[in-house]
Amino acid sequence: MLPTRGYATKGPTSVLEPFNFERREPGPHDVLIEILYCGICHSDIHQARDEWGGSIFPMVPGHEIVGRVTRVGSQVKRFKVGELAGVGCFVDSCRVCASCKAGLEQYCEVHLVLTYNGTEQDEKTPTYGGYSSQIVVDENYTLKISPKLPIANVAPLLCAGITTYSPLRHFKVGPGQRVGIVGLGGLGHMAVKLAASMGAEVTVFSTSKTTLSPTGLISSSTRSPRRMMSMHT
Ligand SMILES: [Zn+2]
Ligand SMILES: [Zn+2]
Repeated sequence: MLPTRGYATKGPTSVLEPFNFERREPGPHDVLIEILYCGICHSDIHQARDEWGGSIFPMVPGHEIVGRVTRVGSQVKRFKVGELAGVGCFVDSCRVCASCKAGLEQYCEVHLVLTYNGTEQDEKTPTYGGYSSQIVVDENYTLKISPKLPIANVAPLLCAGITTYSPLRHFKVGPGQRVGIVGLGGLGHMAVKLAASMGAEVTVFSTSKTTLSPTGLISSSTRSPRRMMSMHT
């Protein structure tokens, strides 16, 4: 087993504290990743506070993980030691149900292994997330990350980014189309950037006084909070 350092919360009203635990030794298809950055997703906060119910404690949150591969299993084909790798919201699934076979593992009908606040395939061993020094993940549930990218900025793409990219791509957003984004939050600002980069005209719907200035910087407005701002890019 691999001694690992992390930050865990012991219960819904506890703060994150240093936490020592063990990762499994990498199997033939696993990669060991030294975690360099991990995004903070609002669902980390929901889960840590048990706001959705059923939280497993102690909990090491974090599912926007970027790091460097430090060891690979004997059968690993897609990664070499030293390369960058990313891990998102889940780290395994049953692999045999219709969803898994269709490449839609996130909809696994048997047991989706969440990156944290979940259990491994044995449905007993708790999973611990990215607020930690390293993680062991099957290469098929690990993403390749280009060394050309600023990797600290890559981390949020692994949940907030893909969550917004997926529907935009699904509905083939592109030039000549108009996209409305409800709320300029963690996901919302990703959606604005992605939709704009796809060539769409982007409108943000906001109920707060915080709005976008024409330069894309967040500024405060003294006008009516119920207004619609449009950002042209
Ligand atoms: Zn499945
Ligand atoms: Zn998330």
